[in-house]
Amino acid sequence: MTITYTVGDGLYINMTNRCTNRCDFCIRHNGEGAYGSDSLWLEREPTKEEVLAAIEEADPTQYREIVFCGYGEPTCRLDDMLWVCREIRVRWNNPIRLNTNGHASLIHKYNTAPEFKGLVDVLSISLNECDAEKYDAICHSAYGPAAFDAMLKFAQDVKPYVSEVVLSVVRQFLSPESLAECERICREIDVPIKIREYIAN
Ligand code: SF4
Repeated sequence: MTITYTVGDGLYINMTNRCTNRCDFCIRHNGEGAYGSDSLWLEREPTKEEVLAAIEEADPTQYREIVFCGYGEPTCRLDDMLWVCREIRVRWNNPIRLNTNGHASLIHKYNTAPEFKGLVDVLSISLNECDAEKYDAICHSAYGPAAFDAMLKFAQDVKPYVSEVVLSVVRQFLSPESLAECERICREIDVPIKIREYIAN
């Protein structure tokens, strides 16, 4: 069972295969792993203690940052993820990044933003499209089009608690008009946009 894997100088954490989206461009459609890792499909979800043990075994001092990502949405296990973040803070100095679909508050039915205070340094939220209908057409959220506004609200809610918040899009899945509108939205809410390339694994 692969709980940690390496991407560049980052130590990536794979805590869950659950997700509230089914994005057309999800890396999970293209193979078993990511960036040459072993399969990231988990036979079961590791306990939070097992996640911490796997991080310790990987030796975080060899990495620039620790990234919660994996084959699923880490905030589906928000409490466990934040517990692991607290334990990382006690043991190592690595910056902590979370790659997320921004549904944490939707999933847990309360404003989760304050929970991230002091525990996550960089939060990369998938914006993906420029309006609710287009978002749902490529993300197929369990929450339907409402997920788009909830994700944007989360991005704004969490800004006071995380020093770097970015909204990401995948260039190949956006028309030039949609990309321009995404850039406008990011300017409006004062969150930087990150335009990334599609990874075909
Ligand atoms: S939110 Fe991330 S893990 Fe979930 S389906 Fe989309 S790309 Fe995959």
